[in-house]
Formats: sequence, structure tokens, C-alpha cells
Amino acid sequence: MPEEVILQAQRELPDWDGQGFSLLETPFSGVKFKRLLGRTRDTLRELLKIPDHFHILFMHGGASAQFSLVPLNLLGDSKCAAYVDSGYWSRKAIHEAHRYCQVEHAAIAEDYIHTSTNTAYCHITSNETADGLQLSLALKASTPLIVDMTSDFLVRPIDFEPIGLIYAGAQKNIGPAGLTIVIVRDDLLGRAHALTPTVLNYTYQVEAGSLVNTPLTYSIYLANLVFQWIGHQGGITSMAKRSQTRSAMIYDVIDASEGFYRCDIPPDQRSRMNLCFKLPDEPLTQLFIDHAAWSGLVNLKGHVQKGGIRASLYNAMPDAGVVALADFMHRFRKQYAD
Ligand code: PLP
Repeated sequence: MPEEVILQAQRELPDWDGQGFSLLETPFSGVKFKRLLGRTRDTLRELLKIPDHFHILFMHGGASAQFSLVPLNLLGDSKCAAYVDSGYWSRKAIHEAHRYCQVEHAAIAEDYIHTSTNTAYCHITSNETADGLQLSLALKASTPLIVDMTSDFLVRPIDFEPIGLIYAGAQKNIGPAGLTIVIVRDDLLGRAHALTPTVLNYTYQVEAGSLVNTPLTYSIYLANLVFQWIGHQGGITSMAKRSQTRSAMIYDVIDASEGFYRCDIPPDQRSRMNLCFKLPDEPLTQLFIDHAAWSGLVNLKGHVQKGGIRASLYNAMPDAGVVALADFMHRFRKQYAD
């Protein structure tokens, strides 16, 4: 989270909105919290230019819960859904979807995804956090696109035309883990399986304004501060430009390293959020992680299933951190490339 947001939250913790007590002690059914919830929703709608026929939900359970909730809520009478397998997280979604329906493996051809006529929707993972691969958002499909945007939400503008639903766990670019934003198109409501739990049913949550049960009040408060912070930074276009420049700085170091650093993702699919690359061998990789940590650059170890290095350049990461990483990579290579 941005430092300014953490400091503001710290200041406001004991006495929120002049009421003499904390937001943590504020009833979710009261006027003050409802006003905050409305403001949070409006700010997000404005930031992403979300059309009126989409509803914004604040749900519990993290993005993984949505792997089940998407089929439970959206299959309706259909027995089949299409999924694009782009890496680690899309495979998790596919694995879960198998419990509810037939899964059609869909492929992307020139920014278009062809699916059979009987598929209820087509699921994609816009940014594969563990693999360092990001899909184009110019994608279109013959069925509504359902997008797991957990790791690249709020970093690029969204064309809502092909979208049926977007979900994003909050922990990367929004706020505390657990809170999950769901943006769902109005005509996809009313299809939930009868056994869908009430608190996890999109239609009931839309009708109740995300207040079927106690929402994640403090996380919503923090999300609101982060949305405002993004607005003050110049909005989504500014975040997009920034992530383009910052990621290019690191990829340039990789590409100029004569094979010392290696990124296996094709240039047009390289993630601007999670930059994954390898060093020549395992001992050198560990040395890189240790030396980086001594220089104050932490959390650079690749995903447990993937190994290598992963630099995550989420919105809250200061530019100075990216410059320091590029500089460290230069120095490390000079010292250890033979
Ligand atoms: N989808 C993507 C793209 C992710 O990066 C993650 C977690 O990092 C998840 C889903 C799972 O999120 P959660 O831990 O909130 O369930």
C-alpha cells in the first residue's frame, strides 16, 4: 500500500470521521459506513470508467473463492464454460471449474477467442502473477469475458465492451487480502445455482449493495484511500504510463545483459507488474536474492513453483525502488558475469 495511505490510516485509526471512535467500532448498517461504501464504489467507477450496466461488489474470500463463484453464479442452464490456460493461476481456476461444468480449453488467435456456441462464458487471467505473463486487453470473445485481474487491476484502462465480469483480490493493487472486488454486467445476474450460498450470490449482493452480511469494513475504508491516492496520481492512464516506463527499465537491463539475465516470456506478453527472469544457475540466483536483500531490495524470490527471480512492480512500489533494482542488477552482473 502507498506510504501516504498507511500514514493517513494510522492517523485516523482512533477517531474516524470525527465521531470520537474508530472505524473498526462503526456499525456497517449505520449512515456513516454506508456513505463511505457509496463513495468507494463511486470513486472506483470513475477511475475505471465503469459503465452503468455493471455493478460493483465488495466481497469476501479472495480471488480463489471466485474460481468457484463464477461457475456457480454464471453457468445458468449451460453445462460448459471456456477457459484460456495461460499459466499458474488460470490453471487453478480451471481445476476448480471442473467441479461444476465441462471445461472447454480456448485459444487466443489474433486477439480473438473462439468458443463453442453452448459455452456460458470465457475465463481469462489477464496477468499471470507467477509466470510474469500479461494478456492484451484488446481481447474479444464470442461469449462474455470473465477476467481474473487480481494482479493487474488499476494499472491499465479497461474496454468493458467484451466484459461479462471482472474480479480482483485486493492484495496487490487495492488493499488488504480477503477483500475481493467483483464487477458484473447486469444481464448476467439471476442465473445462480440454487445451492449457491446467499452471501456468495452475486444477485443477492447486488440487491443488498454488498451488505448481505457484515462486509470487510476496514478493508473497504483502505481501498477507498487507495482509490483516492490513484486519482491524485493522475488516475489509471498515469498508472499505465508509469508501469510501462518502470517495467521497461528492468526489461532493458535483462535484454542488455548478454544472457546473464534471461526472461523466457515473449516481449509482447511480458508482464508490466510481475517481471520474472532467471540467472545462469541456482547458486547465483540465491546469491542475487541475498545481495539484493542486503541492499534493501526484498521479496525478489520467484514463485515457489517457478523459481528464478520475480520483481513485482505494483502501484504502491516507489519509483526509487525500481531505479535501485535496475542499478543493483547492473552491479551484480558486472561482478558475477564471467
Ligand atoms: N489470481 C491471481 C492472478 C493471483 O495472483 C492470485 C494470488 O496472488 C489469486 C488469483 C489468488 O488470490 P487469493 O489469494 O486472494 O485467493
